[in-house]
Amino acid sequence: MLSEQNELVAKIVSLCKRRGIVFQNSEIYGGIQGFYDYGPIGSLLKNNWKSLWLKNNVQERSDVVLIDGSIITHPKVWEASGHVKNFGDELIECKSCHQRFRPDLIDNVTKCPECGGEFTNPKKFNILFKTEIGVIEGEKIPAYLRGEACQNIYLDFKNIVDSSRVKIPFGIAQIGKAFRNEITPKNFLYRTREFEQWDIQFFCQEKDMNQYYEYWKETRMAWYQGLFNQKKSLRFRQHQKNELAFYAKKAFDIEFEAPWGWSEMEGIHWRGDYDLTQHSKYSHQDLSYLDRTTGKKFIPHIVEASGGVDRSLFFLLLDAYQEQKLDNGETRIFLKLNPKLSAYKMAIFPLAANKPELVSLAENLYTDLSKKYSLDFDDSSNIGKKYRRQDEIGTPWCAVIDYQSLEDGTLSIRDRDTMSQIRIKIEEIDSWLSNKLN
Ligand code: ATP
Repeated sequence: MLSEQNELVAKIVSLCKRRGIVFQNSEIYGGIQGFYDYGPIGSLLKNNWKSLWLKNNVQERSDVVLIDGSIITHPKVWEASGHVKNFGDELIECKSCHQRFRPDLIDNVTKCPECGGEFTNPKKFNILFKTEIGVIEGEKIPAYLRGEACQNIYLDFKNIVDSSRVKIPFGIAQIGKAFRNEITPKNFLYRTREFEQWDIQFFCQEKDMNQYYEYWKETRMAWYQGLFNQKKSLRFRQHQKNELAFYAKKAFDIEFEAPWGWSEMEGIHWRGDYDLTQHSKYSHQDLSYLDRTTGKKFIPHIVEASGGVDRSLFFLLLDAYQEQKLDNGETRIFLKLNPKLSAYKMAIFPLAANKPELVSLAENLYTDLSKKYSLDFDDSSNIGKKYRRQDEIGTPWCAVIDYQSLEDGTLSIRDRDTMSQIRIKIEEIDSWLSNKLN
């Protein structure tokens, strides 16, 4: 029997497969652990999730610029950052059932939680993915897929200062893939080996670090709170002294209450001048910043807000998943997603598939409106099935063209969360939808 917590995860995994949100990568070959593909609905959903982050953190701010860095960088980057020496986890193995665990994730467990067996001593593994640049044997250069996306921001810092009109304090943002050869990929999109991160690195003077640290900590939490239904499932966790990097005065994670317990979604890190100092040292380049008004040169200090796109999207699905018992005894499943994030803003149906007047009116409306909104069109016959599909992918509204539409130019709109219906004029649907989405 699955425990209740795993049952919810299993329901989401099944929904994701059934509705084209997320698939196990290489499933036809038996799958590969820690890698996933986004399907037709999931790709739209993830795009919306990233677009909203970009809109709120880059487009709407005059003090943050965007980059899109490459996944493979000079191998020295990972020496300078400390990842080659120290990027990994400890692993212990059960001597009887040979299950492997990360000791940091099974606090105070002295015996194997699966079979009660003895553990081996912990062994340390580096989780950077290695690759090679070049094709000729003997001339290949070893390299790494980036273990965290943010390093590109430090690498491009000088180019950005020299080529744009940014002035401290300012931020550099990026969304991009990161790769970690995780020892125990698990819980679906929570811990994978290939994933995307969104990062804001905010550069400031040392004396202003605390102020900007607090600002980003609160701003990022408020952003998530505005988009999750259950605000109580989000909290800060302050890192203990022994968890802090030597250069950090404090660190907080924004956590989500997942079915398996509170889990990190985004880290707000005090990086000080560590990263730029390290890269200055290893590259022998001057990465200091010249303040043109005071004439002072200094290495900027950094506040980092670094979150996982896939992980937070999974948390968003857990937060949105709803089951409702209907009067007829059936259970309705729907995703209560913020309409800004839903893959489709509206689905358009003709009431009957075999009535050409209804189908063509619905098709015309779809063609017109889809220039502006992401929409679905469904002219299959069973209206109940059509609603069920849209509910399960989180489409907030379904518009139905019916016989009355032919007579008075109105259509019905059904709401995902309440299932209530209203009628409005077809010509008003654009402004109705635009109002709802803003
Ligand atoms: P964890 O302790 O869970 O391994 P971390 O502290 O190593 O995470 P960071 O290096 O701070 O994570 O990365 C920033 C964000 O990237 C995390 O908050 C998380 O959302 C995401 N992330 C990190 N590792 C993974 C992974 N293996 N799969 C999916 N997302 C991840």
